[in-house]
Amino acid sequence: ERSERQVQAVWPPLRPELAGIEPYGAPQLDVPVQLNVNENPYGPSAECVADIAEAAAEAAVTLNRYPDREFVELRRALAEYLSKDAPVSADMVWAANGSNEVMLQLLQAFGGPGRTAVSFAPTYSMYPEYARDTHTEWVAGAREDDFSLDLDKARALIEEVRPSVVLLPSPNNPTGTALPPEAIGLLCEVVGDRGIVVVDEAYGEFRRAGVPSALESLATWRNLVVTRTMSKAFAGAGLRLGYLAAHPAIVDAIRVVRLPYHLSAVTQAVALAALRHAPELLGKVDELRSERDRTVDWLRGQGHEVAESDANYVLFGRFADRHAVWQGLLDHGVLIREVGPDGWLRVSIGTAAEMDTFKTALVAVLNPRG
Ligand code: PMP
Repeated sequence: ERSERQVQAVWPPLRPELAGIEPYGAPQLDVPVQLNVNENPYGPSAECVADIAEAAAEAAVTLNRYPDREFVELRRALAEYLSKDAPVSADMVWAANGSNEVMLQLLQAFGGPGRTAVSFAPTYSMYPEYARDTHTEWVAGAREDDFSLDLDKARALIEEVRPSVVLLPSPNNPTGTALPPEAIGLLCEVVGDRGIVVVDEAYGEFRRAGVPSALESLATWRNLVVTRTMSKAFAGAGLRLGYLAAHPAIVDAIRVVRLPYHLSAVTQAVALAALRHAPELLGKVDELRSERDRTVDWLRGQGHEVAESDANYVLFGRFADRHAVWQGLLDHGVLIREVGPDGWLRVSIGTAAEMDTFKTALVAVLNPRG
């Protein structure tokens, strides 16, 4: 009885497995060059801002009412946008406040006690958190030394664990590694009707020529889910709009776990306005891809190890004391990310001027007397 009283003396009365856990998130520091959370460095034009503001004002007039719970117009617009890659209809589309929320909803609907989610490390560090928060067992297989996936090992792990959810980012965060085209069919087949395969294409628009989108496989695999976001290539990280394309029955299942009216009227209106400006907002993607390739070449030229990247960031190393390098760059006003396997650092691709500052700072940090 006494020990029960002692347990109750711990306050607040948090689930014990959450005690002492730091909330996920990179440091938000106000420094001149921010290359740490894979944002698009280019903001909207004045014309685009005006259109978004007008859309927000129109939504504001109706704010005494709840928004369209099914966000029909937005789903149609997102379906039309995705249809550039493969035919997608509105009933195959779902959206939420960032693809983080989409993914949590997927785990709420398809994970849960007694079920298992699988991914392959190193990978996006939020995945185990979705699993934890939905009481889903988490199993992480390993990637190869070059961060690629050995498909035979992946198949063996899935056959052993029989997961109800497989989470596969393509490109992978933090390594930038894209899935080879044959991976999707192979993994969807192994998982079968017992689970879903989520291909997280948060950075899909940055992939190099010749790497197809998983959207093309939706017509073949009913257990395939492809997630996307407006946060990265679309230059809308502040908007908080992520979405997915999947079989309509999967979309219907998510409707059971979503909160009512989870997408505000303002979010819906602003996302629709942003989609009308897709050509402008995506207009810098080619430039960012070239800048990425130049950054990879430059880092290799400097003698660093660099992971192949299909994303808007580059993982490079390896450093005996990566924290010292990270801190040294920060002292030069350049914020990057201390993430991934020990010894590696990740830099997001910024403007050409920002990348020049990064390069100059890195040389200074690594050659302090030079
Ligand atoms: N997936 C991956 C692989 C990511 O890196 C991120 C963001 N860092 C997300 C999903 C979630 O992004 P958002 O919630 O902004 O859509």
